[in-house]
Amino acid sequence: MPTFVVLEHFIELGIAQPIIDALSAQGYTTPTPIQAQAIPAALAHNDILGTAQTGTGKTAAFSIPIIQNLMSSTRDRRTIKALILTPTRELALQIDESIAAYSSNVKISHAVIFGGVSQNPQVDAIKRGVEIMTATPGRLLDLMQQGFIDLRNVEFFVLDEADRMLDMGFIHDVKKVIAKLPTKRQTLFFSATMPAEVVKLSQNILVNPVRVSVAPVSTTAEKVTQQLFYVDQKNKRFLLRHLLDSSAVEIPSVLVFTRTKHGADRVARHLQKNGIKADAIHGDKSQNQRQNALNSFKSGQSRVLVATDIAARGIDIDNLSHVINFDIPNVAETYVHRIGRTGRAGAAGIAISLCDFEEQAYLRDIEKLIGKKIEYKNPSTHLKKAEAPPEGAKKDFRHQKKKQAPKRR
Ligand code: AMP
Repeated sequence: MPTFVVLEHFIELGIAQPIIDALSAQGYTTPTPIQAQAIPAALAHNDILGTAQTGTGKTAAFSIPIIQNLMSSTRDRRTIKALILTPTRELALQIDESIAAYSSNVKISHAVIFGGVSQNPQVDAIKRGVEIMTATPGRLLDLMQQGFIDLRNVEFFVLDEADRMLDMGFIHDVKKVIAKLPTKRQTLFFSATMPAEVVKLSQNILVNPVRVSVAPVSTTAEKVTQQLFYVDQKNKRFLLRHLLDSSAVEIPSVLVFTRTKHGADRVARHLQKNGIKADAIHGDKSQNQRQNALNSFKSGQSRVLVATDIAARGIDIDNLSHVINFDIPNVAETYVHRIGRTGRAGAAGIAISLCDFEEQAYLRDIEKLIGKKIEYKNPSTHLKKAEAPPEGAKKDFRHQKKKQAPKRR
């Protein structure tokens, strides 16, 4: 079995410049471990057996080699060359969005198909010609049976989240799809865990695979002290300000995570208006603006850096005492990545999450992933008596009857 040295820069992985430029535009500076392991192996046309969860950067690990291989081939642009099967609609959408981003400097057609919505726009896209197709198994089979999809020209097949396919009862559909693929192809197989049935499937469909694996993300959360406040969404910024002002909680430097770019700007503006030095970084900021914000944060000139997940991924900050989740991430693994930004190199770190009633479903997923309940803090007792908590800060509502919980993935 070939072995590959783990490299630190995208260029050393053999990635073509147009793709590297697209990755830089996303704020990616260094490959994640799964990318460093899988990309050179996949570019060398090996099958891959990868043990990795969502949140490890595995989407880029399988998408980049596909995009690059398609770039270099003279091809009929209207046939499906790559099929990516993933269990849920949300993952399918995320993967297709990532492919759009990584291939932004390359002429490649891609589309996503999943159930629960009208098939017409999907069929139209297929008719226009799709080279990289991301799909959930049910709708894919359906469209195959209706004669809209021809998999005879597939050169790359990705099976994503194989264990979840099994859990969700999709494994038979997956097998039916695989039966229609050409036997001569490259297969990239990813699963967070490897139960016996997944191992058996991998053995049946992979040829002499290179094995790549990264540790489960849940294990990195252990050294960080985690706390939780319940607060209405609209009052979060007041509680945040309160935490930063309070003499009861010392927060020398904090990375605040928001879900959206606008959210990051709003939070930074609110803090600035109230005399707290804060900057925001996200994908809409120029490279210069990002660098300035980062320098000012690293040098201690600003105490707060507000960031989206993507912007924060590419940056390296030492000595970060706190992470605050202004929004609870809808993918549990993202939470673990966020809080892993503090408590590095043996230092103690504190992660504080601000949770709105509507975000409880996400919180439950996170607690399931990390295998424990996050310690709940009552703002009235945690902050000093004289510093009354802002209106809207809530008592623990974990046991309250839930309204319509937001959907995840
Ligand atoms: P995934 O595991 O593919 O869902 O990726 C998790 C998150 O990491 C996504 O938000 C990606 O945009 C981001 N990401 C993937 N690779 C990198 C990288 N090399 N540097 C920074 N962020 C990355």
